Amino acid sequence: MANRITTLLVANRGEIAVRIIRAAKELGIRTVAVYSQADKDSLHVRLADTACDIGPAHASKSYLNIQAILEAARQTNADAVHPGYGFLAENEQFARQVAEAGMVFVGPGPETIRLMGDKARARETAIKAGVPTVPGSDGVVADVTVAAQIADRIGYPVMIKAAAGGGGRGIRVVHHADELEKEFIAAQREGLGAFGDGSVYLEKFIARARHIEVQVLGDGSNVIHCFERECSLQRRRQKVFEEAPSPVLSEERRQALCTSAVALAKSVNYSGAGTLEYLYDDASGEFYFIEMNTRIQVEHPITEMITGIDLVRTMLRIANGEPLPYRQHDITRRGSAIECRINAEDPAKGFFPTPGKLQQVTLPAGPGIRVDSMIYPGYTVPPYYDSMLAKLIVWDETREQALARLARALDEVSIEGIATTVPLHQALVRDQAVQQADYHTGFLEQWMVTHPLS
Ligand code: ADP
Ligand code: ADP
Ligand code: MG
Repeated sequence: MANRITTLLVANRGEIAVRIIRAAKELGIRTVAVYSQADKDSLHVRLADTACDIGPAHASKSYLNIQAILEAARQTNADAVHPGYGFLAENEQFARQVAEAGMVFVGPGPETIRLMGDKARARETAIKAGVPTVPGSDGVVADVTVAAQIADRIGYPVMIKAAAGGGGRGIRVVHHADELEKEFIAAQREGLGAFGDGSVYLEKFIARARHIEVQVLGDGSNVIHCFERECSLQRRRQKVFEEAPSPVLSEERRQALCTSAVALAKSVNYSGAGTLEYLYDDASGEFYFIEMNTRIQVEHPITEMITGIDLVRTMLRIANGEPLPYRQHDITRRGSAIECRINAEDPAKGFFPTPGKLQQVTLPAGPGIRVDSMIYPGYTVPPYYDSMLAKLIVWDETREQALARLARALDEVSIEGIATTVPLHQALVRDQAVQQADYHTGFLEQWMVTHPLS
């Protein structure tokens, strides 16, 4: 098929911009980076064929500035835009304006983003597709009085979630009826402040659940899955350590989970790479859909490691108008992969951000190791953005060997100049409960209380 995409603008920064530029280059696509004034020395700027300054450091003036990004695309004759994750990746308006400007948006269409990007609406879509969801409200909850009635019906504790939320923000847990009003208002305010939308909905709070998600790929008519990832080790509802496959799913449960994800994605004629997130109760074997991310995810490399498929390349091929290059039976898995998010935060000081200059950087190598990162010796981590510096990804034949390989690789990491979360991962990977996969979404925060890293 003829290449529709010849020049790709990457509307993002950091490691994911680097990841996308690499995939585009391998397909012979010319690449355009955009950067804020705080990022002019970034690796994505160096690696791209062309780079455009899109404004001041603050994301609202640069990476979230749709007009500046579209102008950069016009100036560089870009014919496609990849949004990465975060920023404008799940912004319906952005997807629409990219298309209206005559370019290809690398992801699903604006209608799908509207349907699945709004978390309350996605729940309704799931219920219609016969996929189990956490008990909760039917869509958005208008006011506290209605919320109180629903909470009484489903029983406390409940969660109040911003419909537009992401990255663990806009979520409140309510243990008793007398806290409901305060938390309801707080969640509304957080949603409005962080995502420009104060709509909230309710879910029953599921304690001791595991977070298991399914990677899917669709081309608008066919949808396949690339198995699951388990991301139960979280801090502030943000993933910290992820693995594929989930160490607790039986083959029967895996099939049921992945089949439900494909059915749900098919029900919206999904196109592109997407992830359906579930909570899984390993005591009962029940799973409940919580949300869909209509974009590439941070932890996509562990799926690439166990399946051998390049998800970002596949996204680009789908956006180019090609049919899915794989059928379900082509997708097989082998071995076990783990990812650690290495952040510029000090785990001994309450995970306080540690921007600053990296004097020296040594990253691990050797069999089964992959590092997705944008850091280099002398790089200065700006204070304005997400604190993730690098993803250390390992693969091995078994989970046990992958853990040993991860411990070895973490010990090879040397980042001088700022504190990072490497010591947290070094302790986690050697922890007996982690080694036995005996954890749930609340595990890490409890563990940190009993395992201080000072
Ligand atoms: P993933 O879902 O890929 O595992 P995260 O939840 O950690 O990753 O989100 C990745 C990045 O995207 C983070 O910087 C997070 O703050 C941001 N993010 C996630 N969802 C949204 C959203 N709906 N709007 C804006 N930013 C988001
Ligand atoms: P985000 O859009 O910020 O990623 P999610 O709805 O995916 O928000 O939830 C983030 C995390 O919060 C989940 O991975 C899980 O750990 C926790 N969580 C979400 N919903 C529930 C629930 N109903 N009960 C318990 N924990 C939940
Ligand atoms: Mg989520």
